[in-house]
Amino acid sequence: MRKVVKFGGSSLADAGQFKKSVDIIRADASRVYVIPSAPGKRFPADTKVTDLLIRTYETVAAGNDPGELLSRIRGRYEDIIEGLGMNYSLDEDFEEIERVLREDPTLDYTASRGEYLNGKILAEYLGFPFVDPFETIFFNEEGQLNSYKTEKVLSLRLSGTDHAVIPGFYGQGKDGKVKTFSRGGSDITGSIVAGAAKADVYENWTDVSGFLVADPRIIRDPVAIHTITYRELRELSYMGASVLHEEAIFPVRSKGIPINIRNTNKPDDEGTWIVESTARKPKYTITGIAGKKGFCAVLISKSMMNSEIGFGRKVLEAFEENRISFEHMPSGIDTMTIVVHESEFVDKEQRVVSAIHRLSQPDSIEIESGLALIAVVGRGMRSVQGTAARIFSALAHARVNVRMIDQGSSELNIIIGVANEDFETAIRAVYAIFVDTQL
Ligand code: ASP
Repeated sequence: MRKVVKFGGSSLADAGQFKKSVDIIRADASRVYVIPSAPGKRFPADTKVTDLLIRTYETVAAGNDPGELLSRIRGRYEDIIEGLGMNYSLDEDFEEIERVLREDPTLDYTASRGEYLNGKILAEYLGFPFVDPFETIFFNEEGQLNSYKTEKVLSLRLSGTDHAVIPGFYGQGKDGKVKTFSRGGSDITGSIVAGAAKADVYENWTDVSGFLVADPRIIRDPVAIHTITYRELRELSYMGASVLHEEAIFPVRSKGIPINIRNTNKPDDEGTWIVESTARKPKYTITGIAGKKGFCAVLISKSMMNSEIGFGRKVLEAFEENRISFEHMPSGIDTMTIVVHESEFVDKEQRVVSAIHRLSQPDSIEIESGLALIAVVGRGMRSVQGTAARIFSALAHARVNVRMIDQGSSELNIIIGVANEDFETAIRAVYAIFVDTQL
């Protein structure tokens, strides 16, 4: 059994959190490859080291002296080293960082040092070899992960070491310089390492006990999801549920490696298992609820539209011409609705409307704004009768007016459009009808 374990920024924010993470690693001999993030927030008003580093780069780029910021960053690491009772000097590392900042500063290099330094300290403390992703994780010309080369180089490197600390978040770009993933990208590194090491499990340690059925900012103490499939997770994260970086599932998914989201502050909680497929019935009919505000619906009507071949394509062409991607497309007999992000749409709305008229000659076009979308997701919905009825009667009881419904053909989700103001009420109503009633 081999596990890859990734620790998020809050799990490594200070010496106390470092110790908890190290205890977790040492508690299980199969936890052999460790991926650290940069130190995160120690308290709500604190600043993440990555954000301090980004500011450092901006200061340098503006021609100003980053000295004060660098000493603040260094202080964060010195505190960790001291708190762990280590004898470790950062002199050389900071000399090198300062040299690069003088000679060839880039945003990605600067931002990546948070993980780099945390990795050096953690490797030293654990007595594990340090494997630099600059030499083992590669990007292609388009800035995407070069999975082929990465897998080859990284698995070879790991086959030569039983244990390793591999910092998250960065690798080497095609230009030979450090390149980072998007924010939160250490999750992706963990997944890449798990894939390359053919690990049995990818444990992702964070500060919550897994995925919650609904957003804790809307529902007080929501229950955690025990097992979720990759497809369900994709639906929920697309709609705003965030615990894991969206791209982190791909490297492990194709290899059938499960991801286990765990809580560093409550290591006995089992957390959430993210799996390809499962025979486990979800505890409730639904697996989770997520949603986002700020959508617009463009309702296009034309009588006899159903028999006009190519009508839908022409309408979509109007959006494509204006480089707007659409989210959903529920349709009726003589109507078609295109749901788009309001922020991407407003500036271009009149151009889109005239393009739809030009391309497809509809009878009328109506635009409705201020829409929120809620996704009710669950593999269990397929086999339970009356799920939709329960959702809509719960919404009716809560006096929420449903403005749009779209059920994916997978029967994995039902998307409901409500007014932005009804968003929270609607989520509470759906949560209550499934979770509070234990059904
Ligand atoms: N430290 C990086 C960030 O704050 C990457 C990560 O934590 O995953 O975005």
